[in-house]
Amino acid sequence: MLLPYKEGIVRLTSPYGMRGSEYHYGVDLVGTDKEIITVYGGKVVRSQVDPSWGNYIAVESGDGFTRYYCHLSERLVQAGDSVIAGQTIGTEGSTGDSTGSHLHYEIRKGTVKFNSADDLKIPNVCEYHMADNTTHYIESIGEMCGYSPETVNMMKEFYHPYRYDFWRKLFSAVKK
Ligand SMILES: [Zn+2]
Repeated sequence: MLLPYKEGIVRLTSPYGMRGSEYHYGVDLVGTDKEIITVYGGKVVRSQVDPSWGNYIAVESGDGFTRYYCHLSERLVQAGDSVIAGQTIGTEGSTGDSTGSHLHYEIRKGTVKFNSADDLKIPNVCEYHMADNTTHYIESIGEMCGYSPETVNMMKEFYHPYRYDFWRKLFSAVKK
């Protein structure tokens, strides 16, 4: 399963589930890179502005699931467009009801909401993940974080969840 980021390090900042007195029906993600991609192909059924979700895009796949990509700074596809998995559809932003740049990612089937962390095959906790096309960072930044090339290679192999501190440093170092 893809993460909804083309590349970079992606931090889950708010899990799916109870958040204070409200239920958070998605996961919040922040990337070192801001290019948002579809995790699953299908048809764009919404590309519009909502007071809460800001600029958002909804993609419905053939199996009836709809995935929502919210708070975008720009939308690059329109309702009616067909998209394939991994296609760039927008840019992470902070539009709508949002206090900082992040992606609110949500999955529904009809009106039923599903665990969006499960959908992405990542643990529903605040952790770091590596998008595809990211290894180019690791050589250049690993050294900056004070790790030997051997250690960096080990990090690449076992990046999650055992080297949380490394990923935290790396995320801070490359955040734009
Ligand atoms: Zn959210």
